[in-house]
Amino acid sequence: MATFDVIIIGAGPGGYVSAIRCAQLGLKTAVVEGRDTLGGTCLNVGCIPSKALLHATHNLHEVHENFEKMGLMGAHPTVDWSKMQGYKQEVVDGNTKGIEFLFKKNKITWLKGWGSIPEPGKVKVGEEIHKAKSIVIATGSEPASLPGVEADEKVIVTSTGALSLGRIPETMVVIGAGVIGLELGSVYARLGTKVTVVEYMEAILPGMDAEVVKTTQRILARQGLSFVLGAAVKGATVADGQATVTWAAKKDGKETSLTVDTVLVATGRKPFTEGLGLEALGVEMLPRGVVKIDDHFRTSVPGIYAIGDCVPGMMLAHKAEDEGVALAEILAGKHGHVNYGVIPGVIYTTPEVASVGRTEESLKEEGRAYKVGKFPFMGNARAKAVFQAEGFVKMIADKETDRILGCHIIGPAAGDLIHEVCVAMEFGASAQDLAMTCHAHPTWSEAVREAALACGDGAIHA
Ligand code: FAD
Repeated sequence: MATFDVIIIGAGPGGYVSAIRCAQLGLKTAVVEGRDTLGGTCLNVGCIPSKALLHATHNLHEVHENFEKMGLMGAHPTVDWSKMQGYKQEVVDGNTKGIEFLFKKNKITWLKGWGSIPEPGKVKVGEEIHKAKSIVIATGSEPASLPGVEADEKVIVTSTGALSLGRIPETMVVIGAGVIGLELGSVYARLGTKVTVVEYMEAILPGMDAEVVKTTQRILARQGLSFVLGAAVKGATVADGQATVTWAAKKDGKETSLTVDTVLVATGRKPFTEGLGLEALGVEMLPRGVVKIDDHFRTSVPGIYAIGDCVPGMMLAHKAEDEGVALAEILAGKHGHVNYGVIPGVIYTTPEVASVGRTEESLKEEGRAYKVGKFPFMGNARAKAVFQAEGFVKMIADKETDRILGCHIIGPAAGDLIHEVCVAMEFGASAQDLAMTCHAHPTWSEAVREAALACGDGAIHA
């Protein structure tokens, strides 16, 4: 029996980042991971493989759409699917091996196997029991299922199966127009698959800025994705290697069926806490299997903490990482804090979509006075030069104080541009502060500055 200061269950972005910080702060740390590789959903079957496929297919799209316009002539590349899968796997392996290296470097013990908590202060892995002053549940999430649509990971797949299909399907239905559905839907649309996205709500990307949502849908539709909105999927059946999906329009109940090669169920994710023994321990849970925690990541059982996808909040890798760091600081007797008001969200389609902070819709609902500064990428020289002038930056500031409350971007490198707004918000900056900051020309980030200017006396290039 080994004794540790901290045992973390789960080596996803929440768990592995927390472990590194715990070790850096002098705590004797172990991580339990049941997968063969470290990195969790994110590195193995989430953020990283999806971004590799998005990158490869984005380049293909660029060749077809824009190369000739720039005078780059010649034969178009064709797709070698197994080679593209190999490239994706190499990217995954490089990253997961990188975490193993970091574990060794920081002297973190990897307890290989599935863990459970037989009693506070103890973690069981296989037949071995290990002791720890603090136990952290960082077991993440798994794809949520949809009644009547059973994933076999061949014809009807979750995001995990969609990342490793045996071939490029000719036709696909994506159930759910959230981030994962749109990212993977656009990967296959760029590879030539006829993609139909079926969404229960009346709009894609529920909860995002309404103007961004409209523009995203228009651009993705032009890239070949079809959208069926306000439709409740009734079920899917598999026959002869194809699936027939049936949905009913919410407005009149009219049913439609479509037979396709592949169905991707992308209706969200749910916490994965099975087999930990939380019920027997009396750990208080919230609906949908979410672990209840307080402001210091403490569960209802002393000495047991939880972070990441299995606790309330956005299911994002960087949210899990920040919670991991904050908790490590707390366990080491320091102050740990996550500012949940400044967590960016990014969709890695082309163009990218990024947002942080408040939306106009939520401010209206609250009755808070705000102002909006908007700037189109059409007025940005760099974006025009690379045929990415669609989209805009929308800055939202408090009407009275000018303090930045949120920002929503659809356009080139939106996922990187959003971070200057995040920093500004962390420092409580006003739109004018950002507008007065010199931005290099010609960069996409000038559009962010122009949107901040538009909150005041006006943008220059609009
Ligand atoms: P996880 O990453 O789920 O890791 C939990 C780990 O715990 C797993 O490895 C699991 O094997 C292990 N585990 C569970 N139970 C036990 C046990 N009892 N014993 C031992 N080990 C156990 N987020 C972003 O921010 N950006 C993106 O671009 C993005 N893209 C995504 C794309 C896809 C296709 C998917 C599916 C997700 C994506 N996400 C993205 C979400 C992101 O992957 C998650 O938010 C993140 O991985 C959550 O981290 P976590 O540490 O909480 O849990």
